[in-house]
Amino acid sequence: VLRSPTVFPVCFALICVFAADAQSLPPAAKAAEEGISADRIRAHVKFLASDLLEGRGPGQRGGEIAAEYIATQFALDGLKPAGDNGTFLQRVPLAGVTPVPEQTRFSLVPKSGAPIALRFGDDFVTSNQTQTDSASVDAPIVWVGYGIDAPEYSWDDFKGVDVRGKVLLALVNEPASEDEKFFKGKALTYYGRWTYKFEQASRKGAIGILIIHRTDLASYGWDVVRNSWSGEHDYLQNDPLATLKAASWIQLDIANKLFASTGMDAAQAIASAGKRGFTARELPIRLQARVASKVRRFESMNVVGILPRAETAASGQAIMYTAHYDHFGVGPSKTADHIYNGAADNGTGCGVLLELAYAFSHAAIRPPHDVIFASVTAEEQGLLGSEYLGLHPPVPASQISLDLNYDMLLPIGDPLSTELGGAERTSFYPQVQATAEQFHLTIEPDAQPMAGHYYRSDHFSLARVGIPAFSIGEGTRYADHPEAWGQEQYQDYNKNRYHQPTDEYSDAMDFTGNAKMAKFGFVLGWKAMQGNGPVQWNSGDEFEAARKRGTTR
Ligand SMILES: [Zn+2]
Repeated sequence: VLRSPTVFPVCFALICVFAADAQSLPPAAKAAEEGISADRIRAHVKFLASDLLEGRGPGQRGGEIAAEYIATQFALDGLKPAGDNGTFLQRVPLAGVTPVPEQTRFSLVPKSGAPIALRFGDDFVTSNQTQTDSASVDAPIVWVGYGIDAPEYSWDDFKGVDVRGKVLLALVNEPASEDEKFFKGKALTYYGRWTYKFEQASRKGAIGILIIHRTDLASYGWDVVRNSWSGEHDYLQNDPLATLKAASWIQLDIANKLFASTGMDAAQAIASAGKRGFTARELPIRLQARVASKVRRFESMNVVGILPRAETAASGQAIMYTAHYDHFGVGPSKTADHIYNGAADNGTGCGVLLELAYAFSHAAIRPPHDVIFASVTAEEQGLLGSEYLGLHPPVPASQISLDLNYDMLLPIGDPLSTELGGAERTSFYPQVQATAEQFHLTIEPDAQPMAGHYYRSDHFSLARVGIPAFSIGEGTRYADHPEAWGQEQYQDYNKNRYHQPTDEYSDAMDFTGNAKMAKFGFVLGWKAMQGNGPVQWNSGDEFEAARKRGTTR
């Protein structure tokens, strides 16, 4: 035992090196990793993506069969049930809310001057998060700029205003910056996402929000907004951060009219929002609205199991693996095939997750900490299953060291690169880099930091409750193929199969890469458990506060 660094400086330095990157697995764990099988992953994907599973829709028969299948595999592996009432299934209560435009009214009523009536679809879209058939709003509008409260950047758009019972008017995105230390420069932080604006409005007790849509800031057009809010939108039931009667978007020209009717210059108001010293203000104008909806309540299941740690080990440093099993079920499509099989998305992630559960549980050695396996539902509806899991984790979030997520690993061969967006935010990154090197994988940088990909996959649901989390994905370089081939495969998949009934299993698929990513994740998980102390967010990271709070969101 080394007690004094002054006596053994060299050894101490060596230990540091080992801790940083050369940490190896016990032989029995290494053997389990090497036994990871592409064929078993294939078998899971083939079954989960078969027509019999009817596209694994949440709340649909096929989704339930998928959950039962995964639970059965967990049972066969000898995992401990970690769902409700001693089962592997965790009930996720959901509500689907569909707007009824014919009966929905939106009107901006200035203190002086004529009211401005808005048209659903053309001028605004809205969703009633309170999940009732009808909601009415008659409240003043408060201009809050970007609607951001970010202590790490000393930025608070809500300073000095009480927005309880009121309607917010806010911009999408975040203050423009080239400075890495201010809202991460050009990259999008979570504060810039519209989901944050909605949640923040709920958190502050507002009853509605009008997000101003600007194509230049949102990186997509109004059509995208209109289409995504015209049909059913799903929520967790009783979500504390979805309490708005009118969660809405308005077109920029409507915002211009709104400002003008209060005597303000829209361009000036918007420009001032990105600058220090901006102050929110209540405007002399009200939103009077009735929001009509059709509400459908249903439930779906997360599947959760735990491989308990070795008996001698301490608690507090569990690791978690996640992969969503849901897809779009049976639905309307442009072709004769109406089954959204979701072979790659996310049969592959499930196959990897099940193979990891198999490898860990069949190893001749127990891991030093609990290993949680969770296959979550309703990802395609907005990360809802993982959100529920984050709010109701099987062990407290503060005792989970790391979440590794798998989503959509194209089964097309042997990848030479990997995508690990978010890993660089954590104290674990040096080990991630060293492990990638052992696997001869280069880590691909985020090709579109402005798109905010980190906030669009299930790992994010765990990050927001403080758990360091990222997804393990295949990169775009593949063995035995020219450099550009992988990129072409991804483009072909996106165009011809992604979120379409054509995302089907075929015997021609090559699961070598899926197995490689499973092995890679196995080693990462084991190393995270071997580290002295849980993984942390780098200081200044936007999720650090949630980790320190040790509470939910
Ligand atoms: Zn997916």
